Amino acid sequence: MTVIRQDDLIQSVADALQYISYYHPVDFIKAVDEAYQKEQNPAAKDAMAQILINSRMCAEGHRPICQDTGIVTVFLKVGMNIQWDAQMSVTDMVNEGVRRAYNLPDNVLRASILADPDGARSNTKDNTPAVIHYEIVPGDEVEVHVAAKGGGSEAKSKFAMLNPSDSVVDWVLKMVPTMGAGWCPPGMLGIGIGGTAEKAMMLAKEALLDPIDIHDLQKKGAENRAEELRLELHEKVNKLGIGAQGLGGLTTVLDVKVKDYPSHAANKAVALIPNCAATRHAHFTLDGSGPAALKPPSLEEWPEVTREVGGNVKRVNLDTVTADEIKTWKPGDTLLLNGKMLTGRDAAHKKMVDMLAKGETLPVDLKGRFIYYVGPVDPVRDEVVGPAGPTTATRMDKFTRTMLAETGLMGMIGKSERGDAAIEAIKEFEAVYLMATGGAAYLVAQAIKKAEVVAFPELGMEAIYEFTVEDMPVTVAVDTDGESVHKIGPQIWQAKIEEQAIDVA
Ligand code: SF4
Repeated sequence: MTVIRQDDLIQSVADALQYISYYHPVDFIKAVDEAYQKEQNPAAKDAMAQILINSRMCAEGHRPICQDTGIVTVFLKVGMNIQWDAQMSVTDMVNEGVRRAYNLPDNVLRASILADPDGARSNTKDNTPAVIHYEIVPGDEVEVHVAAKGGGSEAKSKFAMLNPSDSVVDWVLKMVPTMGAGWCPPGMLGIGIGGTAEKAMMLAKEALLDPIDIHDLQKKGAENRAEELRLELHEKVNKLGIGAQGLGGLTTVLDVKVKDYPSHAANKAVALIPNCAATRHAHFTLDGSGPAALKPPSLEEWPEVTREVGGNVKRVNLDTVTADEIKTWKPGDTLLLNGKMLTGRDAAHKKMVDMLAKGETLPVDLKGRFIYYVGPVDPVRDEVVGPAGPTTATRMDKFTRTMLAETGLMGMIGKSERGDAAIEAIKEFEAVYLMATGGAAYLVAQAIKKAEVVAFPELGMEAIYEFTVEDMPVTVAVDTDGESVHKIGPQIWQAKIEEQAIDVA
């Protein structure tokens, strides 16, 4: 009988989480590189260049691919013939592995998990607990899949109980445009069909653990309904023209994964979960011989990508920028930001808006300033700040009118599109919204030369910082007239793909 020791599972989980924080799966890198090579929209191509450059830097520097280092999700298949040499429960062992990984001094990962989710929302400080799924299987091994799922992509998960005669393809094609860009495409779609409501969601999540192999399937041809759906959806979703970061382009999904399960005659449950530019998962097996050793990938697997700075790049001094200057910026323009900006995300915005409602003075003066929606990773060694990519801007939409009207804020920086109400407010107050590339957090952090907490230190990574930046690359996403690149871009590229019959499969 195989004996699995407590510390072997704990250390293996910890090592795997560290590994996936800085190594993208090689199949993902190859798929993004292929999409990058064929992309025709310069803005989407540049976003993918940033994702690839960031990925290589993280693999070299052993720092997180994204500032959101995810919620840990573990699928365990436990052989019926194994015996545990352990005092802890398996759940406790997995959580101890999470604790060890996220607090590793050499590569501290961001603790993003909040207990009491509809109440105090207090940070558990070590990213526990993980979400763990168990299966008891024949055999004498323990098979473990570890993933770290970003909140931005998890937020776009969808579920429906379709009628048996409804089309899954139609439903997916209706859902994907509603997901906006907050899931940081290009990525993968995991689709679960059948079973019960919870089974379909589990299937969708598990499907994302499979490697990207859509081109193998295209060559081989579909052998069952799930494979037919993969081929059809991969092509039809890419024909929507959403593109990298929602800027419009040829590749929105690198692969579509489908898992199905027998269903009740009255039901057709369908779940859709996207995986983002920070696709992170690893697989290992414990056979009693010690902790699992994941082999580091060769850096030669990463393409050598350099960014081409186009003709429409403007260098901006945030310390002196004027209302007239920002009126000259147009959607799609690339800016290199220099000078000082403030940061703030969900909790800081809620606090500021509550203070304004009570007539209190804010701890920072936002007049004429830019605010960056970010929750950075803590720095290690000589870093000024850890990886610090943008978070989803739509979550700040409900605060935007108040912030613009009552503080004199000039601009916001985040990722993904803005909703109609926020765009209206941006237009009315002649402000701007700029986007940085989601999933390029370590690259963005290189532009931050100084970081200082200036308000709400009790909020941890959600505190308000002042960053001093040098040549931080952003794209104008909503201009002072309320024109949004996320509305125009996908429309243009969907039409181009159709009219020019561009192959997006
Ligand atoms: S790539 Fe985007 S969705 Fe994924 S973890 Fe990072 S910020 Fe979140």
